[in-house]
This record gives sequence, structure tokens and C-alpha cells, in this order.
Amino acid sequence: MLEVERAVKQFGGLRAVSDVSFSLRAGEILGLIGPNGAGKSTLFNLVTGVSPATGGRVTLGGQEVTRLPARQIHRLGVARTFQHVHLQPDQTLLANTMMGGYARGRAGLLASLLHLERAEEAALHHEALRQLERVGLGPHAYTLAGNLALGQQRILEIARALVADPTLLLLDEPAAGLRYGEKLELITLLRRLRDEGVTILIVEHDMNLVMTLVDRLVVMNSGEKLAEGSPDEIRAHPAVREAYLGVDLEEGAA
Ligand code: ADP
Ligand code: MG
Repeated sequence: MLEVERAVKQFGGLRAVSDVSFSLRAGEILGLIGPNGAGKSTLFNLVTGVSPATGGRVTLGGQEVTRLPARQIHRLGVARTFQHVHLQPDQTLLANTMMGGYARGRAGLLASLLHLERAEEAALHHEALRQLERVGLGPHAYTLAGNLALGQQRILEIARALVADPTLLLLDEPAAGLRYGEKLELITLLRRLRDEGVTILIVEHDMNLVMTLVDRLVVMNSGEKLAEGSPDEIRAHPAVREAYLGVDLEEGAA
């Protein structure tokens, strides 16, 4: 589904991503882990076209997308959430979710929503409600996003990313700041989405969560790929243990 080949992202003298290669099979959950500054968010930005690679290739289902603009990559079925919550707290869940639809080529958030054709708006409204129901937030569609607990805000962001039914979903630290129970709900939701055919690439710092959830892991450190393998292989990997000195990789399921 996704093939990243020797990707490079250079910021002046800094190689934030250096020759990273990996692939993602349809229907799997792949975890991307590594210390702060390892280049994980930068890698997301180059896969989604937010900030294209300065070297290497990214292909989606065989089609090269390395230099395509973000909205074209989005049209090909790739959606994401961001590391920091990006919601409009004074808008309803429904309005926030509908904003996931504008990203397919419209400039400006609310402004563009206001200019949608009526039929288009009705379709987007319907789609947003469907995705809110899909993630279990349907009953709160007309609540203001700012009234949600953080865990639900994270799930709302996933609903917004799901507008237009992406086949590949990239999640940047979706469990950051969540309580234990909220993390369990997130795990349940992501597994269900995977079972419904959504392929998932997830950056997450919570080792218990990521080891429980994913099929496979890619580990980055200082811009480079350090290791790749199953959760068990990664737990046992000496270089990974060194990069994560002080983090307990032995812990069981979240
Ligand atoms: P991670 O998400 O793994 O914590 P990032 O991808 O955010 O890491 O950052 C990797 C490195 O690239 C860091 O050293 C960061 O400071 C640098 N970096 C990220 N974005 C930019 C940018 N737009 N300009 C310059 N340096 C950047
Ligand atoms: Mg990051």
C-alpha cells in the first residue's frame, strides 16, 4: 500500500530523515517509534505531502506521490491527525468533522465550508455524521468540541480524518495525554478500523499501547531507521534497548 524508499528530508544542515525505507501492507497497523527529534513527524509530513521529501521516493499502491501536493495525496485516500489537537472548540463535533472534507482542495477552513454548494454541503454533513457514528461520537454530534474530554477530542480528530473514507490513516501520538481508560477505548477503535479495512501508521510514545496494538514496528533514531520488526523482535533488539535506555520494553499489554 505504501512504500517509502530511501526518504531524505534535509532542513538546512540537519537531516531530519536520512535514507529511511519501509513499506506498509494493506490492512496492517504499523507503529513508528523513536525518541523525540528522531524524525517521526517529519516522516509523516513527507508521506502526506505536507512537506515533501528532499530525496528518495514515496509510492502509494504503486503510484509515485513523492512530490504531489497534500490535497492530491489526500484524494488518493491518505488522511492524518496531528501531534497537537487541532480542533475548533467553539464549534460542534459535526462542524469539526465536516472540516475534514474541505481538505480535499479548498482553501480556508470555515470560510470554505460557508461557500460549499448546498448539495455538496448536504453530502459532507451526511458523511461527517456517518464518521462520528463510526467512532462512537454520533450522540454528541451537536455538542461543542471544547466540552469534550481530551480522549474524546482525540477520537473526534480521527472522525474528521475519516471523512471521505481514507484507506491509509496516519496518527501522530493519538494517545498523548489520555488516561488509561481512554487509551483502551482508542485501542478498541483502532482495531475496529483496521478490521474495517483501514491501514494505520501510528506514532506513539506509550510503549505498552503501541506494543499491544501494532502488527509491526519501525524504530527511528536521529533521522535514521534503527530497526524494524514485530513487537517481540523490537523488544529484544539491542540497539533499540540502547536508544530507549530507561524505558521498560518488557511491560505487558496495556
Ligand atoms: P519527532 O516527531 O520524531 O519528535 P520531528 O520529525 O518533529 O521529530 O523532528 C526531527 C528533527 O527535525 C528535529 O531535530 C527537529 O528539530 C527538526 N525539524 C522538524 N521540523 C523542522 C523544520 N520545519 N525546520 C527545521 N527543522 C525541523
Ligand atoms: Mg513528533
